[in-house]
This record gives sequence, structure tokens and C-alpha cells, in this order.
Amino acid sequence: VKENNVLFVIFGGSGDLAHRKLYPALFQLYLKGFLNEHFAVIGTARRPWTHDFFRQGVLENLDEGTNEQQQEFAGHFYYQSHDVKDSDHYVALKKVIDQLDEKYQLNGNRLFYMAMAPALFGTIAQHLKSENLLSNEGYNRLIIEKPFGHDYPSALALNQAIVDTFDRNQVFRIDHYLGKEMVQNIPYLRFGNPFLTSVWNKDYIDNVQITLAESLGVEERAGYYETAGALRDMVQNHIMQIIAMLTFPKPEQYTDDEINQAKSKVFASLPVYSETDVAEKFVRGQYDENADGSQKAYRHEDKIDPKSNVETFVAGEIDLNLPEWQGIPFYVRTGKRLAAKNTCIDIVFKSDVANLFSDQKLENPVLTIEVQPESGVLLTVNGKKIGTSNVVETHQLTDLLDDDQQKQVPDAYERLLLEAILGKQGNFAQWEGMAGSWHFVDAIRDAWAKDSQPDFPNYQSGTMGPKAADALLAKTGRHWIYQG
Ligand code: NAD
Repeated sequence: VKENNVLFVIFGGSGDLAHRKLYPALFQLYLKGFLNEHFAVIGTARRPWTHDFFRQGVLENLDEGTNEQQQEFAGHFYYQSHDVKDSDHYVALKKVIDQLDEKYQLNGNRLFYMAMAPALFGTIAQHLKSENLLSNEGYNRLIIEKPFGHDYPSALALNQAIVDTFDRNQVFRIDHYLGKEMVQNIPYLRFGNPFLTSVWNKDYIDNVQITLAESLGVEERAGYYETAGALRDMVQNHIMQIIAMLTFPKPEQYTDDEINQAKSKVFASLPVYSETDVAEKFVRGQYDENADGSQKAYRHEDKIDPKSNVETFVAGEIDLNLPEWQGIPFYVRTGKRLAAKNTCIDIVFKSDVANLFSDQKLENPVLTIEVQPESGVLLTVNGKKIGTSNVVETHQLTDLLDDDQQKQVPDAYERLLLEAILGKQGNFAQWEGMAGSWHFVDAIRDAWAKDSQPDFPNYQSGTMGPKAADALLAKTGRHWIYQG
């Protein structure tokens, strides 16, 4: 393990994301030696905090290492009160940056992390350049959180503001699903096993199902959620990235550039649905209270409009315009207050062969990739029922990570922060992908907007969503593999 010399400037350093995700992730990199002596972190936000107060907050979020390691790590943290809209504040920030660069010999390597409201991303990027905060030696990189815009035009405007200042290879758009072990494992399964590579196409696959189910409601994110909804919050980014991982054409070499080019082909192949398509292929839902009334309906949650038509559930069929996948539906589903918290991918193989053993109908073999909370791969295949009959039944080959293996899995933010430090773009969202998936999502939103009175609420908390989500598959004789 080699130490990296780098300065982090975290805009929104007093916020929830920074405390819960970024500081613990940096600490892991420190414990593992990727960060050692030559690094510093500047947290900026408007409040007038002291360095000590800031460090105290950082320490409270670390739960590993020794007390000494924690103290040494936190000693690299500095706080700078900063309003991102005030140009003078960038002059003050630049002074601190220059001092720390010298003190820790950071070689001008700078990572600017946007951990605050997206409305401010453009302003920050522009000021970094106009106020001269970028170094001439070393690298300057920008890490951007979701949401990246709220529709195609706003995403385009945001991207423009950023690329005016930063080259594309300097911009790292976080999609933390791309930092998950089992999502990164997908290409290894696809391209590391010739027997899987050869069936990973429309000839052998019947349909693909992606479920990102949450059991919680909106909790403290109500304000944001009312402006977003499930389609923008989960489908536009995470689900689309997973589809790209499942389908991108095999690159000649597994380099960041080639991976991203291959993924771009998938995003470019996303359809733009007509209103009729949307009515046929997409279902939206909003949660009602649960069976015993102990959990509130969405419309009765704090800070939610009692007439809100925001969807907390979406299920749909996505048909890619790629020859390898022609006619193969990608069924996607995500929602809040569902029966269980689970992210899984089911690759459902064809079973349209005659049953040689009896007239019993054969089940479809399924390759399941469990992403969270469990991680691993399951293969469900047909086999013989034990005994003397010729009955066929399904058997499951299971390879789930055990607790020890699970402990070795780096957190998504730890992994992605390291990749950004190393300048590796392969697991970051690219603009082409953003553009393609926003066009796809916008068409659905436009169609939904024509019917401003959806029949909400339409699913009980603690179930797997509205009935219509099951009907979506049932009309072609299919069903959701994951039942909650
Ligand atoms: P937060 O409200 O907890 O923190 C926002 C930070 O921005 C605070 O430090 C605040 O002081 C600072 N800030 C706001 N206006 C400012 C201004 N004018 N000048 C300087 N500082 C200002 O928000 P968060 O939950 O940490 O989210 C930050 C970003 O990360 C958002 O884009 C959010 O969508 C995204 N995100 C958050 C999470 C999460 O788990 N919290 C998950 C995914 C994405």
C-alpha cells in the first residue's frame, strides 16, 4: 500500500453526508495506509466553528482503530467558515489551502468534494477557477454528489457550469451503487466465466429483474423527497447504472476509458417512451399506512403535502435498443416501506424446452446477485427430486459472503474516494449516461404529469407495492422472483 499525498476540501463539511459517510471512509483509508502523513482535510460550511469543535465531530463518527490513531487522524482536519456564494471567502480559503499544501507537502493534489445542496455545485465550481483555488502542479478533481439535476435541462446546465471549469477527466460523479462489492462483481461474473459469457444474451435470458427495496419511509429526507420521488431518486441513477453493468458490451481491455465507452452504448440505447408506452410499461405508487396503522401513510408524514402526488414506488419495464438484448425486458422496481430492505438482481433464464422427464412445466433457472444487505450469488437450477420418482424440482447453489468476508468489504464511499484519489474513472457516472437516463426518465414524468390525480395511496406499507406492479409481469406470464 502506497501513501497518497492529497488535500480534501469538503464543501458542506458540517453536514450529514460528510459526518456519516466521508469521514469514516477517509479514516478507513488512513487505517489501511492509503492516507498517512501527507494529507489534510478542510471542512467548510457557513457556521463559525473552531478546528477543535470540527475535529470533535469527526471523532464522534469513528468507531474503529485505537484512540491514538483516531486522534492523529483528526489532527489532519481543519475547519474554514465559508459561504460558497461569497467571493471573498474563497480568497481566505485559498490561504488555508496553500498553507496546508506546504505544511503537509501535498504536491498540489486537490480533491474538492461537493457535499451540499446541488443548487450550489455550479457556483462552487466557477469560484474555484475565478478565485484561483486550483493548483498548477498536481491534480485538481471535483467529486459531485447526487442528485445531478432534476431533469435533462437542469442536468445539462449543471454539467455546463462544471465543464467550463473542469475537464471531463477531473470530474467524478458519485453513484455509490457503483462502489458496492456485488455491483463491481458483475463484469467479473460476466467476463470471467466463458460458460456465463456465452449465455449472457437474448438467446438464453428471458428477462432481468432489478429490485431496490427499502423498508423505511421518507424519514428525515421528506423535504428533498417531495421534490424528487422514487423515479428520480433511484431509477435515474442507481438502477440505470446497474443495467449498464449488466449489459455493457465486452471491452477489449478492462480500462476505465473502455468501460465507460461501453457503458455509454447502453445509455444511448435507452428508449424514450411515448405516453402509451408509459401507461403500459410503468407503474407508480405511494404508500398508505401499514396493516395495524402503526406506520403513517406518506401523505400524513411530517413535512409532506397531505395531497402529495409524489411517487414512493415505481416499477417498470425497460427495453434496450441493443441487438444483443432485443426483446428482453428489464423489469425494475424500487420503493419505500416495502416488505423488506433488499437490493437484488435476478437474471431469469429461458426454460422453453420440453421436459424430458415428465409433463411437469420446468421452472426458469435464475442467477441471483444479492447486493445488500446480504452479498453474494445464488444459482437456482432444475434437478431431480430425491427418491425414485421422476419429479423435477429447483435446487439452489448459494455463495453468500459470511460475516468475516463481509467485514473485508470496503464501504462504497471508502472505495470510491480511493478511486478518485487514484484518478480512476471507471466506477463514476459519466455525462453521456446522465443525459441518456434523464431523457428516459423525463419522458415518464411528462406522461405522468398529464394525469395529475393518480389513485394514491395505492399500496399498504409492508407489502411489495401496488398490485399493478405484479400485473406488469403477469400479462406475459412472468412474475417477480423476489417476493419480499
Ligand atoms: P446537509 O444539509 O446535512 O449538509 C449541507 C451542508 O452544506 C452543511 O454543512 C451546510 O452548512 C452547508 N451549506 C449549505 N448552504 C451553504 C452555503 N451557502 N455556503 C456554505 N455552506 C453551506 O446535507 P447532506 O445530507 O450532507 O447532503 C449533501 C449532499 O449530498 C446533497 O447533494 C445530497 O443530495 C447528497 N447526498 C446525501 C446523502 C446522505 O446520506 N446524507 C446521500 C446521497 C446524496
